[in-house]
Amino acid sequence: MQFFNTLTRQQEEFVPMEPGKVKLYTCGPTVHDFAHIGNFRTYVFEDLLRRYLRYRGYQVTQVMNLTDVEDKIIRKSIAAGVHFKEYTKPYIEAFFEDLKRLNIQPAEHYPRATEHVDGMVEMIRDLLQKGIAYRSEDGSIYYNITKFPSYGQLAHICVSELVSGARVAQDEYEKDSACDFALWKAWDEADGHVYWDQYEDLGKGRPGWHIECSAMSRAILGDSFDIHCGGVDNIFPHHQNEIAQSEAFSGKKFVNYWLHSEHLQVESYKMSKSKGNFITLRDLLDPQGNPSRRAYDPMVIRFSLLSASYGSRMNFKYEGLQQDEKALERIVALLRRAQEQTAGESVDDLVEKTRAEFIRHMDNNLLITEALAALFNFVTDVNKRMDAGPINGQKVVEFWNEIDEVLGLNLKEKLQTGPLDEDIEKLIEERQAARKAKNFARSDEIRNQLLAQGIVLEDTPQGVRWKRSSP
Ligand code: AMP
Ligand code: ZN
Repeated sequence: MQFFNTLTRQQEEFVPMEPGKVKLYTCGPTVHDFAHIGNFRTYVFEDLLRRYLRYRGYQVTQVMNLTDVEDKIIRKSIAAGVHFKEYTKPYIEAFFEDLKRLNIQPAEHYPRATEHVDGMVEMIRDLLQKGIAYRSEDGSIYYNITKFPSYGQLAHICVSELVSGARVAQDEYEKDSACDFALWKAWDEADGHVYWDQYEDLGKGRPGWHIECSAMSRAILGDSFDIHCGGVDNIFPHHQNEIAQSEAFSGKKFVNYWLHSEHLQVESYKMSKSKGNFITLRDLLDPQGNPSRRAYDPMVIRFSLLSASYGSRMNFKYEGLQQDEKALERIVALLRRAQEQTAGESVDDLVEKTRAEFIRHMDNNLLITEALAALFNFVTDVNKRMDAGPINGQKVVEFWNEIDEVLGLNLKEKLQTGPLDEDIEKLIEERQAARKAKNFARSDEIRNQLLAQGIVLEDTPQGVRWKRSSP
C-alpha cells in the first residue's frame, strides 16, 4: 500500500511502526460553528482511509481531537456573552450527529483540548527549560523557530531570512509570515473569562492552538505514530508547528506519513467560514436550506464527497449531487435485481477481477476515482449477464457488502428497508409540484428514482398512490 507523504513529497510504501497496527491522528473540528461540507470532505477522506486500512487487515487506533478553545471560540463566546464551554456545547453535539448521518465510523478517541491542558503545560515547561521556548515582554511564551533546524520542512518553506525574534500571537497566519509562534498566551482583557491560572510558573493565560494537538496526540498515541491527516490548510502553520513542538520535546520523529486532503471549493474558492461561502450538511438535508430546494440523502452527500481522490481539489455543485444520486441508484437497482436471482450462472470471475482492481487502485494512494470506475464496470457487466439469463445473485450482494465496508454507503440497509415513508411522501410532493410547473423531466426523474428504490407510483383519480414492489 502506498501513500503520498507531504513530508517527503513522494509516494511511499506504507510500513507501520508495529506490524498490523496503525496509529492515526486526525485534526478534528474547531467547534465554534457547524462544520461545513468542506470540513466533511476531509473527515470523509479520513474515514475512507480508516476503513480501507481495516479492510486490508490493520487494526486502527484513530484519534480525532476537538479544538474547544482557540482564538475564534474565545472571540465568539465573549461576543455572545456566554461561557466558552457553553458556547461550544451545541456545536460539539451537532458534530457528532453529523458524523453519524454521514456514516463516519467513530474514532477510538475524541480528546478535547480543555481536558489536556496539563499535558500542554508539561511540554511548554520542557521547551522553556531547553531554551527552545522563551517568554516575551507581555508574559506570553513563544517557540523560537530558529532553534529547530528543520523548521519549514513539511510546508517546504525556507526560514533563513527571518527576522530574529519576530512573533505571531494568532493561531492562524500565512506562510510568508512564518515566525515565532505562541505556546502560551498571557491573559489580556480580550480573553475575558477564558484563562487558566493554576500554573504559576507560566502565569495566567491559555494555550496556543498548535500545542493542543501535540499534547493530545502524545497523550494517546505516544511520541511517535504512523499517520497524521488534515486538510491542506493545516500544513502551515498548524502541522509544521506540531512537528517543531513534538520533536523538540521528545527528540524522536513525530509522524512517519502526513496525508493532506485538498479542499472542497465553491466556484473555485475554498469553502470556508470566513469567506461566508460555506454550506453545512444541515443545509443539504433540509429542502429549505439550499437553492435547489431538495433534501439530499446523506449517503448521496457522502458518496459525492468521497468520489474525488483526496489529492485533487473538488468543486461543489448541486448538479454534481444529482449525478451522484443517480450513480448510487444504479448500484441499488443492480442489487435489487441481483438479490432476486438465487440460482444461475456464476459471477465469480467478475467479482474476482473487480476486487483485484479495487485493491490495486486503493493501494495506490487511495485512488478512489479509478476504484469506483472498476466498480461501475462491474455494475454494467453484471447487468449484461442478467440480461442474458439468471445468475447467482447472492454473490453480487455479498461482494457489494464487502466493498461497502470501505465505501460506507449503508447499501445493506438501503436494500432491506428502502426509503422511509416520509422521504417517499416528500418526493411525491415534489413530483406533483414539478408536474404542475410542467417540469416533466424532473417528474419522470423522481418516478425513476423511486422505482430504483423499489417504490412503484400509481396515478389515480384520487391522487398518487405508492407501494413497495419487493419486500
Ligand atoms: P477547522 O474546523 O477549521 O479546524 O477544520 C477542520 C478540518 O477541515 C481541517 O482538517 C481542515 O483542514 C479541513 N478543512 C477546512 N476547510 C476545508 C475545505 N474547504 N475543504 C476540505 N477540508 C477543509
Ligand atoms: Zn490539529
